[in-house]
Amino acid sequence: MNYYIHVPFCRSKCGYCAFYSEAAPVPGAVDAYLDRLEFQFERLEPAEPCETVYFGGGTPTLLSEMQLERLFSMTARALRPDSETEISIEANPETLTVPKIALLRSFASRISLGVQSFDARFRAMLGRDCEQAALERAIERVAAARFPHWSCDLIYAIPGQGPADFERDLARAVALGIDHLSCYSLTPEEGARLADSLIPDEDDAARMWELAGRCGLPRYEISNYAAPGCECRHNRNVWRGGLLTGLGPAAAGFDGTDRKSEPASLAGWLRGDPPEIDAIAPAERLNEIFAVNLRTASGWTPELWAKVPNADAWDARVAAARRAAAETLPEWFDISPERITLSDSGLLFWNTVAETIL
Ligand code: SF4
Repeated sequence: MNYYIHVPFCRSKCGYCAFYSEAAPVPGAVDAYLDRLEFQFERLEPAEPCETVYFGGGTPTLLSEMQLERLFSMTARALRPDSETEISIEANPETLTVPKIALLRSFASRISLGVQSFDARFRAMLGRDCEQAALERAIERVAAARFPHWSCDLIYAIPGQGPADFERDLARAVALGIDHLSCYSLTPEEGARLADSLIPDEDDAARMWELAGRCGLPRYEISNYAAPGCECRHNRNVWRGGLLTGLGPAAAGFDGTDRKSEPASLAGWLRGDPPEIDAIAPAERLNEIFAVNLRTASGWTPELWAKVPNADAWDARVAAARRAAAETLPEWFDISPERITLSDSGLLFWNTVAETIL
């Protein structure tokens, strides 16, 4: 089983972000969240093995040291992770103290540092509240802690950012010694504070995506790059239709048939409002899972497909890919009886491919 724990608190709201989180939470909000999470953990039947745990947000590292300690100990009690479990945590540079990093290092095997850009001008453009000194300090501390796996997040196609600027960000990230990198094209999200002014240039975005593909870490998914063997197992499992239990406001889960989302409101979640169920026909669900994992460079093999809950025949998948190739562009696909993948140009137009499959 894979577990996603959403920690819905941030210092302030970044201009591009429309994820659910409470900016500058009121006193008591985090403790109320932890109380409710503990209540849910106590009622959870943990499924063995606990393959991955992912703490995302929001900003998990906004929690105080005591609160993080409580979060980790209730997670360990309820989910019983073992030495094989991948435990990832997202971290915001402004919130990383030395004791917090030591706590993270004692519990998590992966840290994902939200850098977005090493250049203060572009972070300011994104409305991202992070001083250069805090970023440099966090980098130094995380490097010194020697996590088994270390990832950075970057954003590209920020207004005013040229390919050379982004190349500098890529080079700096890789030079840190990270083994995983996520690079997301700036996407104006409805409801984000600066959605109207943060409009990316499509041509720049495509050029920068190509630059990211040459960063030195192989691309294993449209937006993710990793040294071989250092891919994020949590995300890979989820993309392949793996079972997912989501805890916390706005957390998503998948029970093998339906996807569900916990209420995107701390108050609603604390009250125990029911999750929203996205119940779709089994054939549609299979198409959705099939399309999602085509975002990865390794795509589908018959063996991987056979592990999808309620999978249909591999031949049906080959036929679906051939239909999609005929309706879009054949050069976007690489289809054989052993594997179905998208080419680089197919990955770039994954949205069109997915629409065709769905
Ligand atoms: S981008 Fe991350 S830190 Fe910024 S508001 Fe969104 S969830 Fe919070």
